[in-house]
Amino acid sequence: MKTTTGGQKTSISMTHNILTETRFDSFDLTPELLQGLQHGNYEFCTPIQEMALPIALQGRDVAGQAQTGTGKTATFLVAMFKTLLSTPSGNGAKQPRALIVAPTRELARQIASDARQLGKFIDLKISLAYGGTGYQQQLDDIGQGTDILIGTPGRLIDFYKQQIYRLDCVQVVILDEADRMFDLGFIKDIRYLLRRIPKPTKRQGMLFSATLSYRVLELAYEHMNSPELVRIEPEQITAKSVNQSAFYPANEQKYSLLIGLLRTKNPKRSIIFVNTKKAGELVSAYLSANGFAPGVLSGDVPQKKRQWLLEQFQGTALDILIATDVAARGLHIPEVTHVFNFDLPQDVEDYVHRIGRTARLGSQGEAISLACEKYVYSLPEIEKFVGQKIEIMPMTEDLLPEIEKPVTRNPRWHGPSKGTTGAKGRERVRRVRQKSTAAKRA
Ligand code: AMP
Repeated sequence: MKTTTGGQKTSISMTHNILTETRFDSFDLTPELLQGLQHGNYEFCTPIQEMALPIALQGRDVAGQAQTGTGKTATFLVAMFKTLLSTPSGNGAKQPRALIVAPTRELARQIASDARQLGKFIDLKISLAYGGTGYQQQLDDIGQGTDILIGTPGRLIDFYKQQIYRLDCVQVVILDEADRMFDLGFIKDIRYLLRRIPKPTKRQGMLFSATLSYRVLELAYEHMNSPELVRIEPEQITAKSVNQSAFYPANEQKYSLLIGLLRTKNPKRSIIFVNTKKAGELVSAYLSANGFAPGVLSGDVPQKKRQWLLEQFQGTALDILIATDVAARGLHIPEVTHVFNFDLPQDVEDYVHRIGRTARLGSQGEAISLACEKYVYSLPEIEKFVGQKIEIMPMTEDLLPEIEKPVTRNPRWHGPSKGTTGAKGRERVRRVRQKSTAAKRA
């Protein structure tokens, strides 16, 4: 495997302006593809695009180290379209010619949305297969034949086993967020799919991952055709473009500090990361009791509700989102001004992913971590990984206001309990409360 690493030029351009001077129209692309790029306002390449496209546009395999926010999606989509447009399909049956596998449904949907934008003027059908919702609709759509199939492993395999589509016509295969596929236990499924598509020498393979760890590289060696490694080092992304700081609160000061920070910083749009679903419940309850209206996103929030929350967050209806790592992975949320690590993550890669939500494509963002007694021990490792010291800020009085405690003893993770809304529901709650107060008095 050959390696191309971001050199001096890349790190300079990322510091001051995350776009490089390389223009998309300097590549040999078809007019429809250039039109799609123009339509999506893509003019200059990001560093990963500048480094990976010259290789991938020749039809060669690429294993890229890049996280969400670097422009990796457009990198593999542009290369995929170019390969599909310059290679005869060789099948009249409308079987998938490109297969894109992503670890989460949000990421799969985001990729499909970017592909539809870039491929707006290209006559290739794009279909989605992801779990949790829309089973029959997806099945019917794919069953009618498609060119580009994007999905999460479980649903892709389910439809494959039912012979809804075939894998023998695949000319381009893309694995996005490969490291996350391992974390989420999808690796067996990935191997299942990779073993059923044509051999590495007969198709183009692209793999992107936040880290090119040993296990990811092993997968690349096994299933790709001498891939070239393209790395954008995490510290080049995080250290330069995100303003990072931390506080050392005691465990019991965390809610007050978070509320103090939200009040003083007054962020336009922020994500508060927590390590557990339970912590998310509590943060949500505390914020609600103190005049904020956060949305909460965890892995077990139903799909419909997630989509609704994201739409609210992408618009102006919701400006604070509380999330766990699993739920937030791969989501594209534009213009997040602040990331708060209510809990410092225990995994350094999660830290990079979290703070990568802010400062996308050149905008300056702020990441503030509450390094409490429980999780502070991950700080040295994080500093080593991002290659810089994170400034510790003093906890001034204005940052530790008196706060209201949540009224509910049992704050719920998302939304009110069943049967507690509407006039009848409220009446029921009132009766239950009355009864319990009466019981206490007695
Ligand atoms: P990604 O890293 O693929 O999640 O991309 C992050 C965001 O940047 C997406 O909204 C893309 O549409 C956008 N983007 C990617 N590359 C470029 C580019 N070269 N110029 C402008 N926007 C871009």
